[in-house]
Amino acid sequence: MTPERYAKILRVLSKRQPTLTVLMDEVNKPHNLSAIVRTCDAVGVLQAHAVPPRGGRLVDFDGHTFEATSGSAHKWVPVQKHADAVGAVRDLQAQGFQVLATHLSQRSVDYREVDYTRPTCVLLGAEKWGVGDEAADAADHNIIIPMFGMVQSLNVSVAAATILFEAQRQRLAAGMYDAPQLGDEDLRRWAFEWAYP
Ligand code: SAM
Repeated sequence: MTPERYAKILRVLSKRQPTLTVLMDEVNKPHNLSAIVRTCDAVGVLQAHAVPPRGGRLVDFDGHTFEATSGSAHKWVPVQKHADAVGAVRDLQAQGFQVLATHLSQRSVDYREVDYTRPTCVLLGAEKWGVGDEAADAADHNIIIPMFGMVQSLNVSVAAATILFEAQRQRLAAGMYDAPQLGDEDLRRWAFEWAYP
């Protein structure tokens, strides 16, 4: 570990946003999962969350299935697994996160209307069936990216990037990247983990 490398690790960790995360509910295509994790790294998500797909192809959250699309981002954004979406939503809410389900419903709002400077988790749905009704009901808000085309939905990783960069925009404006959001002790612990994996 060179001093330059360690300095880069500290620089990146000083921009990490422990109060911004995603919950991927049965996102089952490894390239989508990888692309989402790569965007998470770019906007400064510290840790992501996922409910592994049932019955489908198993995605290896810790290893090689990420590699092709994530550009090694999976090394810098650990993905915590959860047994089910509703349980995960409640866990995250208990930790103080507002959960935003990307879901079309009676109460959906434009994703730009939400305050992302609050502790926020974006709930993303499976490619085939989207976010389940129960998890969407449990979420604090339902959000959508307005679309005017013939096709009804975006690719999940594109939707994730669109929303996470809006979160980044708001957080930049609020000065949340100007000073470390991680406390000193946490920052050093993460730096050690990144430096000596
Ligand atoms: N047939 C699914 C449905 O009815 O929800 C489509 C799922 S879409 C391909 C996969 C995921 O991408 C969605 O669950 C959501 O997380 C995200 N997504 C796609 N388009 C979106 C949009 N316009 N607004 C918000 N999220 C979107």
